[in-house]
Amino acid sequence: MSEQTFNAMVLREEDKKTKAAIESLTFDALPGEDTLVKIEYSTLNYKDALAVTGKGKIVKSWPLVPGIDFAGEVVETSNPKLKAGQKVVLTGWSVGEKYWGGYSQYQRVRGEWLVPLPKGLTTRQAMMIGTAGFTGMLCVNALEDAGVTPQSGPVLVTGAAGGVGSVAVAILSKLGYSVSALTGSTDKHEYVKALGAREFVDGPEWADPPRPLEGQKWAAAVDTVGSKVLARVLAEMNYNGVVAACGLAGGADLPTTVMPFILRGVKLLGVDSVMLPSKDRVMAWNRIVIDLPGDLLDGITAQTVRLEEVGAAAEAMLAGQLRGRVLVDVN
Ligand code: NDP
Repeated sequence: MSEQTFNAMVLREEDKKTKAAIESLTFDALPGEDTLVKIEYSTLNYKDALAVTGKGKIVKSWPLVPGIDFAGEVVETSNPKLKAGQKVVLTGWSVGEKYWGGYSQYQRVRGEWLVPLPKGLTTRQAMMIGTAGFTGMLCVNALEDAGVTPQSGPVLVTGAAGGVGSVAVAILSKLGYSVSALTGSTDKHEYVKALGAREFVDGPEWADPPRPLEGQKWAAAVDTVGSKVLARVLAEMNYNGVVAACGLAGGADLPTTVMPFILRGVKLLGVDSVMLPSKDRVMAWNRIVIDLPGDLLDGITAQTVRLEEVGAAAEAMLAGQLRGRVLVDVN
């Protein structure tokens, strides 16, 4: 097997610039972790787009095989909780940032990072969801854990046509929430409406800093954008409203005041998928199978790309030209 070769995308740093190339690797080149996985699918997430293009400081060690998530089959393992032939999913744990990731036909990873493929999902479907969709589910869980129900009132999703946003819209709508959506352009409305959004709130005001408090509109919100957008979301929350914030597609800053918190009791909940404990991952994956029906999932995946096409898709993602999820078929 050590003579056999397979393909992977490898990122190298040359003159402080990121160079991405598809390389033919041998198994000896893979990291010395305890579990070898034959990868079936990976995906393109916002973080992958930043890593592959070199436009964000994502890569922590060079050279690196990017891809922050994948699904596939265990080939060999010394982890007693896993066995050869078992289908598994990986998201997070700094894979695709610090450790070699999913843009490869094979990868060696720590067995403890793997989650058994949830019953009812194929590896393709698991990656149609991917880190972005998984995070959308975590945001919905965070809102509900804070006491939000469909009866609480309207829920706003920002970046609604993106990977996290699409899944959040689909799940919330299916659960009976009245979902309002913020998107970057009217071209995306038909797509987001098909996922269940009832109205769109796009308007020029989102480009401006909000007043400390605006009119109250939302019982809850999922924010994937950050910066001025999150500041306006906070200013527009109802008394005791709850915001789940997971992203920075519009910037990592947060130009707000304490007013929404101290005068309206607004709660801002941070959502992280990378270091989430394993037991919470299994629960979230099992919930996705129930709350994200297959027909909605089909609608969320805009395109499937090969390893050679990841670079172009990454550029398009950062330019805001994509909608929904991008599946990467490594084979
Ligand atoms: P996508 O690129 O698929 O979606 C992001 C969306 O944000 C875009 O589709 C666009 O919405 C909107 N957007 C982009 N730029 C701007 C801008 N300048 N101003 C306003 N809106 C903008 O990315 P993902 O959905 O995969 O990820 C969204 C965010 O969540 C990213 O920042 C990502 O890093 C983060 N994330 C965090 C995770 C965590 O564990 N906390 C896990 C996964 C993702 P539209 O298309 O509607 O115009």
